[in-house]
Amino acid sequence: MATDCTLVAELRFLAAADRQRLIEALREAGYAVHGPRVQEGVIRYAPVERIEDLPRGWRDIQEPGRYRLRQTDENRLFAWAAPAASLKPLVFPPREILFHARRDADGRLRFEAADGAAPKLAVLGVRACDLAGLYLQDRHFLQGAHPDEAYRRRRRKLFLVAVHCAHPADTCFCAATGDGPVARYGFDLAISELEEGWLLEARSHAGQEILDALPTRAAGETQRKAAEAAFRQAAAAQRRRLPGGDLPARLGGRLDAELWQAVGRRCLACGNCTAVCPSCFCHAHVEETPLTGARTTRLRQWDSCFTAGHSLLHGRPVREDTASRYRQWLTHKLSGWHEQYGRSGCSGCGRCITWCPEGIDITAEAAAIAGEEA
Ligand code: SF4
Ligand code: SF4
Repeated sequence: MATDCTLVAELRFLAAADRQRLIEALREAGYAVHGPRVQEGVIRYAPVERIEDLPRGWRDIQEPGRYRLRQTDENRLFAWAAPAASLKPLVFPPREILFHARRDADGRLRFEAADGAAPKLAVLGVRACDLAGLYLQDRHFLQGAHPDEAYRRRRRKLFLVAVHCAHPADTCFCAATGDGPVARYGFDLAISELEEGWLLEARSHAGQEILDALPTRAAGETQRKAAEAAFRQAAAAQRRRLPGGDLPARLGGRLDAELWQAVGRRCLACGNCTAVCPSCFCHAHVEETPLTGARTTRLRQWDSCFTAGHSLLHGRPVREDTASRYRQWLTHKLSGWHEQYGRSGCSGCGRCITWCPEGIDITAEAAAIAGEEA
C-alpha cells in the first residue's frame, strides 16, 4: 500500500533567513526551547538559543549497530533521521524522585512530595515516529486507572514542532508501521523543509499563535509539490518492514520456536534497545536511605525487560535466560500492546537496530520467528 504523503493543511512559507524568528517567537511565548544539536558525535535534543545551534548540513548514517555523522554544505537543518534519543526522557526522565519520607521528633512518618515544577518547553524537529512513541507513553501514563501526575504536568507544558521526514536512515521503517514519514497528529506546528526555507502548518491554537507571529507568506503550489515528492521518496527508500498479516497471533503461536534461543545467544541483554525506544515505559521503584537513616527517598528509574530484576516474582526471576527476555520484549511490543493500547508498540524509528551493539534487527527477528522471509 502506498504511503499517503499529501500535505492537507494550509501552508505558510518562512524563508531560510527568517528561521531564527521561530526560536524567538517561542521564547517570547515563555517556552524554553530544545532542538537537535550535534553533541558527542550524535544528534540529540538539547537547549538551543540560536538557529546556528541546529545541525545545519549534517547527515547521519544509521545501520545495524552503527551511527555516524558527516557534514555537507547543504542549508538544511533536518537532513537526518531519528535523533539518538526520542522525546521520552523529556516527559519520563530516566531517574526521578517521587517523594521523601522522614520521621519527625514525635516518631511519626512525614512524607514530602518531590518538586513538581514543569517549565514550558518547546521541542523543535520532532519526527512522526517519535510523536507515535509519545502517543503510546500518553496511553500508558495518562489513560489508565491511575494517571501519573508528574508525567501529566510535563506533558501539558510541551509545545511540539514536528518535521515531516525527507531523510530516512537505513534502519527506518515508519512507512511500514503507518506512522511516517509525514506526521499526522500530536504536534502544534509542523515543518516541511526545503532548501530555500520552511513550509509551516499549525495544528493547534498555540501553534497558530506562534505561526501568526512569524514573517510568512502563502506557500506556492510548486513548493507543496516539491515537499510531497521528497516525502514520497523518503517512504519509498525504506527497505525494512514488519511482517504483515495477523502478526500478534503468529508470534503467539511460535513461543517455543528454536529461533528465540538463537537470538538469545547473540543478545547481550544490555538493554540499549529498551532505553532508546520511544515507547518502552518499563520502570522500577527504588528507595535510597543515607547511613544516618534520617530520610528515605523513593525514586522511579527506567528498567528493561532484559534485566533479571524486572521479572522477579517471589524472590526469583521468572525469565531466567536472555532468550526468554528477548521473547518478552518482542512479543509484548508487537503483540501484547495491541490488546493493551490498541496498536503495535513499534513506530518504526529504527533506534533499537542502530543502537544494538550486536546489530540485532527487530524486523528480521520478527519475520524469522513469524515464519516469513525478512
Ligand atoms: S521497537 Fe525499535 S524500531 Fe520500534 S519504536 Fe522501539 S526502538 Fe523504534
Ligand atoms: S537486542 Fe541488542 S540492544 Fe537489546 S538487549 Fe540485546 S544486545 Fe542489547
